[in-house]
Amino acid sequence: MTIERDGFDYAARLDRARAELRKTGIDVLLASVGADLPYLTGYEAMPLERLTMAVIPADGDAVLVVPELEAPRVAVRDGVFSLRAWGETDDPVAIVAGLVGAPMRAAITDQTWSVFLLELQTAMPATRFLSARPISAALRLRKEPAEVTRLRLAAEAVDRVAARLAQVRFSGRTEKSLSDQVAAMTVEEGSDVATFKIVASGPNAASPHHQAAGRIIQTGDPVVVDFGGKVGGYCSDTTRTFHVGQPTAEYRRVYDVVRAAQEAGVAAARPGVAAEAVDAAARRVIADAGYGAFFIHRLGHGIGLEAHEDPYLVAGNTLALQPGMAFSVEPGIYLPGRFGVRIEDIVVCTEDGAQRLNESTRQLVVVD
Ligand code: ZN
Ligand code: ZN
Ligand code: ZN
Repeated sequence: MTIERDGFDYAARLDRARAELRKTGIDVLLASVGADLPYLTGYEAMPLERLTMAVIPADGDAVLVVPELEAPRVAVRDGVFSLRAWGETDDPVAIVAGLVGAPMRAAITDQTWSVFLLELQTAMPATRFLSARPISAALRLRKEPAEVTRLRLAAEAVDRVAARLAQVRFSGRTEKSLSDQVAAMTVEEGSDVATFKIVASGPNAASPHHQAAGRIIQTGDPVVVDFGGKVGGYCSDTTRTFHVGQPTAEYRRVYDVVRAAQEAGVAAARPGVAAEAVDAAARRVIADAGYGAFFIHRLGHGIGLEAHEDPYLVAGNTLALQPGMAFSVEPGIYLPGRFGVRIEDIVVCTEDGAQRLNESTRQLVVVD
């Protein structure tokens, strides 16, 4: 498995990070495990007990502090950042503190392990530590064309899986066996890796994040299949709800409501519209049909290097959408103990509105 990370201008990204630091009055950005580090340097750290941390001063050269044994994995990009490898008996926290000097304000990435933050706070008692989330959002919210290309390739791979699923036999096998097949097809169809594969059948479909298990899928079941992978580091995430055998009139009604809500969400998303207004547009369709109490999650989440990232389409988020933002539109109706339906596409906001990256059919698909 290779994650292709070339083709991005890391020097430009680091410059944007420095500009953001200066704009917000922060002296240094500290980036450890999580998606900000590969976004800024092209290097993805293993989430291990040894500290990896990029030290990015607002005015100065970036240094990647990395365990000596991981250093061979780092593609050093001349003039972008330098490497400071530390040996087993070195103190990496002291190295970071030494590189930082004595700034007043340091932004630290959200997924840095708390043990390292606690040690840095002890080593640098005069420094105020802030969440780097506003900085990473400012950098990563609007995707570059090369990022959209990867999101599109990732989406096309899972669309081919969705199309193949229409031909697959669902009944008489466990959720787990179908889930394993979905993951295998996700890789066969061009993903570098399959990252998740929810298969929720019958009453389990009423649980949005159901873990596929031993239930045997039966005729008469709706089956929510929500899955994704990665291409070149960028994520896919799509949901289709299949029906095993002919559905009831009630099921068709619920399915049509979710599909109409999904359409309304996609239609509402365009530059200048608040994230919460897109959620509201889809939610209104479901509420008007009498199922408002059964749509129990936000409409969507941003996607990129992470499967869930900013922007979140949820009541209370007044962030105005901008071209380049990528996010899911995934309404659902979940009737406890009975069944559920969800339909999910990734879309990219363009000047002309939302463009779907997922294009597998949203019609009701009946399988055997
Ligand atoms: Zn989810
Ligand atoms: Zn999903
Ligand atoms: Zn999603």
